[in-house]
Amino acid sequence: MFARRVRHGVQGYSAVKCIALGSRSLSSIDNLGLEEKLSGCLSSLPPKAKVVICGGGVMGAAVAYHLARRGWGDQTVVIEQEKVGAGSRWCSSGLVGAFKPSLAQVKIAQSSIRLLKDLESRGKPTGWKQCGSLLLARTRDRMTVYRRMKSQSVSWGIECELVSPQKCQEICPMLNVEDILGGLWIPGDGVGDTHLFCLSLMREAVENGVGVMEDCAITAVHSKDGKVSGVDTTSGTVECQYFVNCAGFWARQISTCFGLCKGQLTSREDCQNYWSRFFLIRSPKISIAMGLCPYLQDGKKLSNHMVPTYSS
Ligand SMILES: Cc1cc2nc3c(=O)[nH]c(=O)nc-3n(C[C@H](O)[C@H](O)[C@H](O)COP(=O)(O)OP(=O)(O)OC[C@H]3O[C@@H](n4cnc5c(N)ncnc54)[C@H](O)[C@@H]3O)c2cc1C
Repeated sequence: MFARRVRHGVQGYSAVKCIALGSRSLSSIDNLGLEEKLSGCLSSLPPKAKVVICGGGVMGAAVAYHLARRGWGDQTVVIEQEKVGAGSRWCSSGLVGAFKPSLAQVKIAQSSIRLLKDLESRGKPTGWKQCGSLLLARTRDRMTVYRRMKSQSVSWGIECELVSPQKCQEICPMLNVEDILGGLWIPGDGVGDTHLFCLSLMREAVENGVGVMEDCAITAVHSKDGKVSGVDTTSGTVECQYFVNCAGFWARQISTCFGLCKGQLTSREDCQNYWSRFFLIRSPKISIAMGLCPYLQDGKKLSNHMVPTYSS
């Protein structure tokens, strides 16, 4: 199926994932093993902080960045059990798409794109590449979905265009469009490098007073009178007023273990994607070979994160 869709592609790989990685790879995958690290981390924990953020992934970095911008930097501590960006950094293909199921999510995605561009314009690397997304339709039903998305895009403020099969091929010349009825082209979408993005956010947070403690795990969260009062870690205790759970894949475990919330779930996407980590990390040459392409999505048939059989 992949070979049919991408004419000169690499047989056996997910077109969607490879092409997404292809776009991203130029900045990051080439640097496998040469990861940048965060400097200016704390060597010991302060006894008190207003806010403790658990996890130095992209969510923890974003929360720290926004708190620092609002003047809470010197009252905020990020506690990371490994290194900043250690969580999903290699797994994520860093796709940043504006189309989401709800307006609230669309606004978050649009503000993320603005933030990526802003950081890049200030010389803070994020690996941002505006390669666009091309959603392909092989059926009339799928084309109807895209027509609806096009109508919706007007009120949601997303620039997009319904395109013919020929235009699809112009946008992505390696595409086989024999069975394609058309598509939806979203030029403002792109890819970022999750690790670089995370580091740039965290660097700005540190510059604005946030303390970051690496190699330190939170082992308990305490509360008093129904409010958070502090955390225990492998490097000591910190009193705090607010605790922000940004532990990503581990967030549910943190919530349930510490009795904070029973309803939070680790997303299915994360579970399904964790096992594909090997595939994504081990195939840099293949993704590089694909060059800079749009993010391709082929309706229902090629699943977003499908990992077909592959023999080396
Ligand atoms: C294969 C794959 C592909 C993906 N593709 C995309 C994509 O294209 N676009 C997109 O937007 N998203 C994508 N995602 C999702 C995205 O990567 C995640 O949503 C995002 O990285 C989550 O960030 P986070 O900061 O919440 O979690 P993480 O990056 O997992 O960070 C959590 C951090 O918490 C730390 N931690 C955990 N427990 C503790 C503790 N007790 N004490 C201290 N620290 C702790 C961990 O060490 C970790 O560093 C993808 C995910 C995967 C797996």
